[in-house]
Amino acid sequence: MGNDPSVAGLIVAQDPHLGLVGDKALELAKLNGHHDVAERFYRCQHDRQHRQIGWYPWRCRSPGCGACRQNLVRTWWQAFGGWLTGPEISLAIMPLCDDPIRAIRRLRKGLRDVRDRTARQDHRWAAVAIAGLVDGDRALLLVEHHGIERRLLWSVLERRWPNVLLIDPGFIEPASAMTVGDAAALACRRRGLEPIRVIILPQVIAMTVQTDWDEPMPMVF
Ligand SMILES: [Zn+2]
Repeated sequence: MGNDPSVAGLIVAQDPHLGLVGDKALELAKLNGHHDVAERFYRCQHDRQHRQIGWYPWRCRSPGCGACRQNLVRTWWQAFGGWLTGPEISLAIMPLCDDPIRAIRRLRKGLRDVRDRTARQDHRWAAVAIAGLVDGDRALLLVEHHGIERRLLWSVLERRWPNVLLIDPGFIEPASAMTVGDAAALACRRRGLEPIRVIILPQVIAMTVQTDWDEPMPMVF
């Protein structure tokens, strides 16, 4: 992963869970050309520390910022829950053994390949939709599989991902905690949570919206 130590230092300074504050890290980030990231992090942190009753603090909305990432993860997960509402929904838990951005890119492609290939044999798979996020060293994915038993879904996924676990969705939601290096790499991409997010649309919708990797559904602002 493209790990920029200066931004990593800034995230250490910024993330309240890491408990460190340092203007030096901020200055390092500026020196290394991430001025806007640095300024936004700084303003977000400053507003949080000086919040007052009746005044809503400004948010940087960067996935590198611990507090803002927590809100982004929660909002996206709620959006996925609102989107995939069919009678047959499973939560797939997939271990990731690479850096999250690279692992999700590979998983996204693999899932689409498996879904499309299986749909050529069994048309019910054309309607399978998947949405999920990184959760530490694993991915949590909601899978809508109308008309397909969970056991059959598992038998298809298991061939490619032997450690996949399928359970009822329940109340599990992804944690927003990341290593400083991963958070820094994510912030420097400047694409929100997209690099650690999976969205596989049903085939019929995917054909009409003509997208490549960055699907427009669902929308979260
Ligand atoms: Zn923030």
